Amino acid sequence: MLDILIIGGGPIGLACGLAAQYAGLSFVIVEKGCLVNSLYNYPSTMTFFSTSEKLEIGGVPFVTVHNKPTRNDALEYYRRVALSNKLPLNLFEEVTNVKPIEGGYEILTSKTTYRAKKVILSTGFYDIAVNLDIPGEDLPKVKHYYQDPHYYTSQKVVVVGSSNSAIDVALETYRKGAEVTLVVRGAEISNRVKYWVRPDIINRIKEGSIKAHFNSNLAAIRQTEVDIDTPDGKVTIPNDFVMAMTGYKPNFDFLKKIGIQLTEDKFIPTYNPDTMETNQPGLYLAGVVVGGLDTHLWFIENSRIHADMIMADIVAKR
Ligand code: FAD
Repeated sequence: MLDILIIGGGPIGLACGLAAQYAGLSFVIVEKGCLVNSLYNYPSTMTFFSTSEKLEIGGVPFVTVHNKPTRNDALEYYRRVALSNKLPLNLFEEVTNVKPIEGGYEILTSKTTYRAKKVILSTGFYDIAVNLDIPGEDLPKVKHYYQDPHYYTSQKVVVVGSSNSAIDVALETYRKGAEVTLVVRGAEISNRVKYWVRPDIINRIKEGSIKAHFNSNLAAIRQTEVDIDTPDGKVTIPNDFVMAMTGYKPNFDFLKKIGIQLTEDKFIPTYNPDTMETNQPGLYLAGVVVGGLDTHLWFIENSRIHADMIMADIVAKR
């Protein structure tokens, strides 16, 4: 039986692996996609808002020329950390269930079954998009993930949302020749938008380069047009693509299935904030999965510490 099985090979799953290795415990990291799968699926042009030292794990320096690393810098860093430390990684293997057994847990995956005394769930929140729940959302032209602006050249693009992701998509596609309309539920561009990006989008809207509807909601999507509910009534505009940057959420069904209790309003999992142990003894949470629907509260920066907290508890209880 393994000492620990870690579910999820994102930055925090890797941090847990390093902490387990330093503590001399046996473990394996099981990841359903490629190494740091979420980061791999970020926009190719993405730059982190954190400076590189705040993304470091296991005390390994993250050296970059510019202070804010790009997606590619981060892929290089986490891959080098994982490979040079020879972390045991089982990639492209999905964990489908976790069941309590005598002395630990049985972990079922798409490939095999494991037994481990402790389980750390570090599955993040990037796999499930928050839907708009409007007619036409299932059309192929509606995207919840964005890779690259070139694809949208000369296209009429509606961007839904006012988070960092939405604003990056609006500005980047506009600069590659898309005709961009922003649909924002609130009265203004979110204050959470990166402080060096917010003036850019506000000025593009002011000068009319990017159109924006505030206090508005996208109401329906059709092949060649969309309806927007605005304070002045329904507006219909021609449209080629909808970028629904409405956020992501952890896999709550999976958390419930394995016995983790969630709060009713925000689906925040039950865990001890000092040890990260859930209501299931020996089953821990690490990383941004802990936030429930409040995904904006957790980052690599402030959740990498979970690795040491969990390992301290596991070692203390041995
Ligand atoms: P993830 O990286 O999401 O890792 C979870 C892993 O679990 C994934 O690889 C997934 O494939 C795997 N998984 C899920 N379910 C299963 C399963 N059943 N079986 C096996 N594997 C599974 N944070 C910062 O600190 N600074 C930043 O500048 C920053 N910028 C960001 C920019 C964007 C666009 C986004 C979306 C997030 C940003 N964040 C930032 C937040 C942070 O980068 C991510 O949330 C980070 O990936 C969290 O790490 P994690 O290991 O907790 O989760």
